[in-house]
Amino acid sequence: MRPPAETDWQRLDRMVAGRVRRPGEPGFRGASTPFNKRFAATTPAGVVSVANVEDVRRAIEWARDSGVAAVARSGGHSYAGHSVNTGLVIDLSAMNTVSANGSTGLVTTAGGARMADVYAAIQPHEMAFALGNSATVGIGGLVLGGGCGATSRVFGLTADALVATTVVTADGRLLHCDANENADLFWACRGGGGGNFGINVSFTFQARPVADCSTYVLVWDRADAPKVFSALQEVVRRGPDEFAARIGVAKVGGSEAVVSAVGQHLGPASELREILDPVLAVAQPVHTRIADRTFWQAKDDLLHETAEDAFAVRTNIVTEPLPDEAVATMLSFVDSLPGSGSPDGGGAALFSWGGAINRVGRTDTAFAHRDAMFLLSMDTSWAETDEPAVVAANLRWLSELGDALSPYVSDGAFQNFMDPDLADWRTAYYGVNYPRLRKIKDRVDPDGFFTFAQSI
Ligand SMILES: Cc1cc2nc3c(=O)[nH]c(=O)nc-3n(C[C@H](O)[C@H](O)[C@H](O)COP(=O)(O)OP(=O)(O)OC[C@H]3O[C@@H](n4cnc5c(N)ncnc54)[C@H](O)[C@@H]3O)c2cc1C
Repeated sequence: MRPPAETDWQRLDRMVAGRVRRPGEPGFRGASTPFNKRFAATTPAGVVSVANVEDVRRAIEWARDSGVAAVARSGGHSYAGHSVNTGLVIDLSAMNTVSANGSTGLVTTAGGARMADVYAAIQPHEMAFALGNSATVGIGGLVLGGGCGATSRVFGLTADALVATTVVTADGRLLHCDANENADLFWACRGGGGGNFGINVSFTFQARPVADCSTYVLVWDRADAPKVFSALQEVVRRGPDEFAARIGVAKVGGSEAVVSAVGQHLGPASELREILDPVLAVAQPVHTRIADRTFWQAKDDLLHETAEDAFAVRTNIVTEPLPDEAVATMLSFVDSLPGSGSPDGGGAALFSWGGAINRVGRTDTAFAHRDAMFLLSMDTSWAETDEPAVVAANLRWLSELGDALSPYVSDGAFQNFMDPDLADWRTAYYGVNYPRLRKIKDRVDPDGFFTFAQSI
């Protein structure tokens, strides 16, 4: 099929209430450049910023008729750049309304809403469900890949709070999905990964009441890292579900690595101090902040935006605390991070999972990693101006770090931190659920219209 002519793009523009942009036009880059600049060179032939559900159907119809590959884009935060291609990007960012009902706790978002939109709607009702820690992450990508947050040990995953979603499929049908209607597709939308089955134009979540809580930031010298990792993993294992931690070691440029713990407790700071006592007893932090917060202040404390350079991430599921030898290996790798022009540097972190995440069966939703105690995330970054040799050295470092830790972790990887270099991604992301996801894909998208590098 010949590539679409200018007149075809003009026809698409006339078909939608939203707007079509071609390369070079104002707003084109903002609507298509991926968050991860590793994929910034991928330029779509066009972007359609859709205004409503009918626009989504028309954009899909046009792409099918024109033989143009299409991908959906919400927050654009896909680690693997899966919301940008060389065909048509269907930009959902204008479909960002969120309504919240304080009596029922039901929260309905349009398909392109971002974290900031969701928080703004739920805060007046003092209710929440697990949400991501960046104001600009899209709810679409977050929930479809499971979605974890600082409240996940109590509230479960974002996908665990999903009670209904509406999907425009490749043949233009609008399907309502919940536990009773299109139940298989609903199951797939709870962890089966963004972009695979259609374009979700709405999501409804069950939120729960929230109250005041506390947060902490602790920083230690590199010398204390082995003791801190050991004690903190035990703190998480023994601690209540209300306690959440991100235990990290990070290094930037030629400076020494720094160890930190950041997190939240759904209880007062006095309790939080007691929970943290065992680690404070083994190593004195160089920086300590433990404070009572409203739930919304805590959310702001934990919001995190990086410098938006290019990056690569490898993840693994950890079901038992990492033994000392694994921590020593991890620390020595971080000490030898090659470095780059990015101020983000690199490192490794353990995110506390467990709790409510583990109380859902492995096949109850498409999210299979239900035995995780921690998510291990290893990352490195570089500037777009860095030489290819710098990029190669950082990617080699990440791959060797992952290989060195593989004896201590499970083969699972987090489908929300997609890794384009992962060979066996089907099993790693979806485990036992992959065959069922594949069957659902064959049924709702038999021609594979929604296709990208790691699509089901
Ligand atoms: C700074 C930062 C912080 C993060 N924090 C967290 C966190 O706290 N917890 C967590 O679990 N993850 C987190 N993530 C990972 C994030 O959840 C995933 O990268 C997610 O896929 C991003 O969703 P998005 O809509 O922003 O991205 P996009 O790149 O727009 O979309 C990601 C994928 O989902 C598809 N998609 C998006 N919207 C829809 C839709 N409505 N219908 C169908 N398919 C859709 C896209 O086609 C693409 O394949 C973070 C990522 C970053 C960069």
